[in-house]
Amino acid sequence: MNGLQVLTAAVIGMLFAVAVRGGTEASRPTGKPDFLAANLDISVNPGDDFFEYANGGWLKRNPIPATESGWGTAYLVQEQVYHTLRAVNSRAATMSAPEGSDDRKIGDFWATAMDVGKARRLGLRPLKRELARIDSVKNLQQVLDAGFALQSLEVSVFFRLLVDQDKRNSTVIAVHVNQGGLGLPDRDFYVKADKSTAHIRDEYVHHIAHVLRLLGQSESTAQAAARRIMAFESALARASRTLGNTRDPMTNYNRMTPAELTRDYTPTIGWVDRLATWNLHPDYIVVRQPEYFAALDRVLVQTSVSVLKDYLRFHLVSAYAPYLSPSFGRANFHFFNRLLAGQQEPEPRWKRVLDSENTLSYIPGFVGAASPIGMLVGRSFVSERFPESTKQRYTRLVEAIETAFRERIKQLDWLSEATKAKVLAKLAAMGSMVGYPDPWPDYSALIIGRSSYCENMMNVARWRFEHMLGSFGKPVNRTQWRMTPQTIDAYYSVSNNEIAYPAAEFIVPGLTDSEVDDAVAYAYVGVGIGHELMHGFDDQGRKYDARGNIGDWWAVDDAAEFEKRSGVLVKQFDAYEPLAGLRINGRNSLSENIADYSGLVLALDAFKQTDEYREDRKVDGLTPIQRFFLAYAYSWMTQEREEQLRRDLLSETHSPPKWRVIGPLSNITDFYQAFDVQPGQAMWRPPENRVSIW
Ligand SMILES: [Zn+2]
Repeated sequence: MNGLQVLTAAVIGMLFAVAVRGGTEASRPTGKPDFLAANLDISVNPGDDFFEYANGGWLKRNPIPATESGWGTAYLVQEQVYHTLRAVNSRAATMSAPEGSDDRKIGDFWATAMDVGKARRLGLRPLKRELARIDSVKNLQQVLDAGFALQSLEVSVFFRLLVDQDKRNSTVIAVHVNQGGLGLPDRDFYVKADKSTAHIRDEYVHHIAHVLRLLGQSESTAQAAARRIMAFESALARASRTLGNTRDPMTNYNRMTPAELTRDYTPTIGWVDRLATWNLHPDYIVVRQPEYFAALDRVLVQTSVSVLKDYLRFHLVSAYAPYLSPSFGRANFHFFNRLLAGQQEPEPRWKRVLDSENTLSYIPGFVGAASPIGMLVGRSFVSERFPESTKQRYTRLVEAIETAFRERIKQLDWLSEATKAKVLAKLAAMGSMVGYPDPWPDYSALIIGRSSYCENMMNVARWRFEHMLGSFGKPVNRTQWRMTPQTIDAYYSVSNNEIAYPAAEFIVPGLTDSEVDDAVAYAYVGVGIGHELMHGFDDQGRKYDARGNIGDWWAVDDAAEFEKRSGVLVKQFDAYEPLAGLRINGRNSLSENIADYSGLVLALDAFKQTDEYREDRKVDGLTPIQRFFLAYAYSWMTQEREEQLRRDLLSETHSPPKWRVIGPLSNITDFYQAFDVQPGQAMWRPPENRVSIW
């Protein structure tokens, strides 16, 4: 997920305050101030900037460390998770577990990855075979041989192969091909004319040249090759759909036979034979962006074989740079972390190794199976940090949010009874997975040894690729998780119509279970549950039916009304300008903004059913509903470097953290009342402009 999964989620939490029975004041350990009150910046008026009011005190006291590109709540959770995982890994590395056992795999992975001396001695040797294959290429068909081979290492050159549920028939696994092949985070980085983006492009060319020099090319050869690679990628970028245009499931679903794809779009790429080398013999293939593939074919033919070979070398080495000798990792850090995200110094090696255990194979609308090595570690993480009692409490909160939605649907005045019935049916069919997979998958086919860190990472990629290919032609595995339990994130699967909440999402930094009351639990975790649930009913999710298939089940007038109401949200977010000259794209971020707003509304409805809300006792001068909104702001308490903010505004579908707070809250009447928001204050919106969807 653009290297930073940390912020994409509706963050964390520890369920169901045990505390509340006798009133919240009594539940606080004596002398310990409420953490929400301690974070405030009371020099800011809540109606002007609630994010700063709620979090400003903490943010001022806690500047971003040099090793980070942002700092705040999710980062604090990540710190706690890191420490648990480090203990799990180092214990496994010293226990001499039997060959082939899970602990042996964890231990071998960790010991090898932490051995920087070994990585330095090996240099490029772990990639020798793959590089030799590219060296031996003599013509375009051999370029394609090498490019297709790289897909099995999850190096998505030219395009991206996906074997996953068919969006029109969720019971079937289909072969998909998607635009891809770019080194920068999104096609907009190649085409935008402003100075900052042009600077990033220049630096990217330097970065490519740097990597090619590390591969042994001379300075001048590497510079020239880098410029040609950039020209090639720019041609692919110009043919790629914008982020906004990749969102719609219908226009990104184009079904044809592999032979038709070759005949009509890519005469150079014989898909029947190419797929057969992976033992895939599909009747049809879903081409997400056919015009991209036509352009890819043209650009491939027009580009010299030597440029394409350099392109393949660069992407292979770039993908595995963090696991090679440190000079490669430093090159990647300089460009991807420092330049694109503003991080000043690398994190310590042990944290980077933990991140590598947890990498996601991610593309919007599809997420591959979670990392197998991360899953093995995750099993220990769960046994240490996620007791059955927490799982049960959390499951009850999911039910409370679902109940709130059910009640809300019944009372909506803009939806016809016929559509309401279908919404209710989809909600009733929605599944939820809490904490960790049950049963745990079998990872016996995963090969981990002590030959090299890079080889282990290639084996992880191979396992995941083989696992993906192996799913073709089989029934859909509905217990599969696409994130590890230690991931601070969550997801909704449209095809399975289910939400999944990894165990790490429940952690409130520095608090024990008994210190988390309902106001915090409902805002901090409940909104996140509501957020994921709402993805089934946002502007894209509503286009899928209860079985997870694309289908237009909405009455025409209801659909038009939905569009009208969500249009207000588009306009609202289009007007936000987090960086001078760079606004939020209200259309690209619409699904996430609907999920944030409606998730908040549902969690608030559910919170109003609790004793804590009804008893209305103050904690440190704050009412339960004020603390609910403050805890919501706390879930997004983050400051980030300008570089990262810029990158995310161009490549992310989520609004930046601050606007995930002030945007939705500006539409919620209870918030206006709780903090006495008045006309003339920056967050005040006239009632007729306040969004109301779900
Ligand atoms: Zn979301």
